[in-house]
Amino acid sequence: MTDCLFCKIAAKQIPSSIVYEDEELLAFKDIHPAAPVHLLVIPKVHVATLSECNESHGVLLGKLLALAPKLAKEHGCEVTYDAGGKPAGGYKTLINSGPDGGQEVYHLHLHMIGGPRPWTGQR
Ligand code: ADP
Repeated sequence: MTDCLFCKIAAKQIPSSIVYEDEELLAFKDIHPAAPVHLLVIPKVHVATLSECNESHGVLLGKLLALAPKLAKEHGCEVTYDAGGKPAGGYKTLINSGPDGGQEVYHLHLHMIGGPRPWTGQR
């Protein structure tokens, strides 16, 4: 799609703060962060919304989601456990779909929102 903001970011036609890139995926910092860490993970191929996905997108969606723990480690918000097994750290992973789901940009993206609280994470 030629008039898609995130396609333009993926094509480096619009600048962004890229934190990860491979052949299929791009991750970059959200321009209006809702928390100390707020990253967006997108497929480079244009998929407008999760609502258009089916089983054929399973591998791509799996890769998209599986990138979150790696990014969390790199950005200091992975889940850790103390000696007593109490968890700390963490992040939200969120995909908004359609107007009622709060989707503003129609290129599939996974929000990764975390870091030390307080933060709202509202999206
Ligand atoms: P919402 O705005 O409700 O979170 P989406 O789930 O569609 O809607 O998220 C789009 C996200 O894209 C927003 O968090 C917004 O801040 C972010 N965004 C918009 N333009 C850019 C940009 N040029 N670079 C990085 N992030 C952007």
